[in-house]
Amino acid sequence: MAHYSEKYDLFLSATQSFCHLCNNINHLIDTHVVTKDNEVYLRKFCPKCGESMVKISTDFNYYKTCESYLKAPDLPEKPLTQVLRGCPFDCGVCPQHQNHPCLALFNITDECNMKCNICYYAAEPGLGNHRSMAQIEKMMQTLLSTESEPDLIQVTGGEPTTHPKIVEILQYLKASPVRHLMLNTNGIKIAEDESFVKALKALGGGFEVYLQFDSMTPSVLKDIRAQDMSKVRLKALAMLEKYNISTTLVMVVKKGLNEQEIPEVIRFSRTYKCIRGVVFQPVEEAGRVNAHGDFRITLSEIRKIIIEDENNPFTSEDMIPLPCDPHKIGVGYAAKTMETDESGKAFAKLYPVTGQLPKSLITEHKGTVIFEKDKDFVKSVIDTVSLDTAMGEGILKNKIKSKLFCCWPSFLTPEDMGYENVYRLVISEFSDVVNFDSTNIKRECNFMIEEERIIPFSTYNMGIKFSQ
Ligand code: SF4
Ligand code: SF4
Repeated sequence: MAHYSEKYDLFLSATQSFCHLCNNINHLIDTHVVTKDNEVYLRKFCPKCGESMVKISTDFNYYKTCESYLKAPDLPEKPLTQVLRGCPFDCGVCPQHQNHPCLALFNITDECNMKCNICYYAAEPGLGNHRSMAQIEKMMQTLLSTESEPDLIQVTGGEPTTHPKIVEILQYLKASPVRHLMLNTNGIKIAEDESFVKALKALGGGFEVYLQFDSMTPSVLKDIRAQDMSKVRLKALAMLEKYNISTTLVMVVKKGLNEQEIPEVIRFSRTYKCIRGVVFQPVEEAGRVNAHGDFRITLSEIRKIIIEDENNPFTSEDMIPLPCDPHKIGVGYAAKTMETDESGKAFAKLYPVTGQLPKSLITEHKGTVIFEKDKDFVKSVIDTVSLDTAMGEGILKNKIKSKLFCCWPSFLTPEDMGYENVYRLVISEFSDVVNFDSTNIKRECNFMIEEERIIPFSTYNMGIKFSQ
């Protein structure tokens, strides 16, 4: 018999979710967004399990800030499915979705040379299924049918570097109409095969490596990755630094395990010229992960650690919501110059810029891409940032302007001109059966590209049975 007893302070809105107690992802249940003790919860009503409360933010004030950053929808050019059963069963992309694919993920293989405990894809050695060039070309056609000027493609898997044609695939995608290309990797091939790194370098500007980097501690790496990856990561970074290939570190965060290392990972990232910033991903329930437990961490908790860390310059004003999906992505951008610390080692000096921009500039900007075409917007950004940064107007005008606002979490510059002067921190939280909110999911801008459809990354990982 269902039992309803939870107390709360404020009712904010009504939405729908799934019951994570009976793990039923076939039927949505009524859900309220409520506050309790200045934190925000999903209050779920399951006919079978009764009421449950899931914490989605530890900071009600920041939650309200997120609501105020929401910008007008930026719709996909053409839907690929119809509305039959309703969201999220009609992915995708269906006419209800509110965002175009800022980030298009091309999954090119199920194979992996690792077996991480936190793998959302449950990849492992022996799974194979490398996608053919014909399949990858079909994925590209499908993406182009709904997004004629795709901004960013990320090649992923499995571990994409296990694909025997990885270089050919990267070259093909780089030559496509897409503006920027990323390789999501565990770094093993980069650490071990210098000729592969040379091939990556030959791809030129607008290419970036998205490198797993969860911890500096062997025992933590063993928990997350099932092996100590410390030496591999350092070797891979030495290669990327040698060839100056733009790199973003990606840190999966598990509460009680590695969140206290966030300041240290930020500090470490500043010792490399090639590193453009860090992306923090709260561990999600998908693939091999059962994330019902205490190790769930919210975006607001990670943000708090960043802004309370006195050794990095990002303040509360600098870590702001991304306007196209404000509750799920937080960003902070800085201009960067490499200098030397007191011991004579290279260390990035950072000048955060996001906190200096008027909010209206950010929320009223019409889209997330084609920044260069919006001359008035560019001018106001430069005027604003030039006022009080030590970087000087020259760098801002020539190097930062084309990179500040184009698809914030992962944008690159077309020719990499001056991209070495950009540094960013991004907190990117995905949806799973526990924190699913049918209102928010319509704003997701990361899409998995398949041969016939494109699917928001979270609903793809949840294993939802789609209606068409
Ligand atoms: S998540 Fe988006 S694409 Fe999928 S059903 Fe909902 S609105 Fe449609
Ligand atoms: S998380 Fe990445 S490296 Fe680890 S098993 Fe999954 S695909 Fe492989």
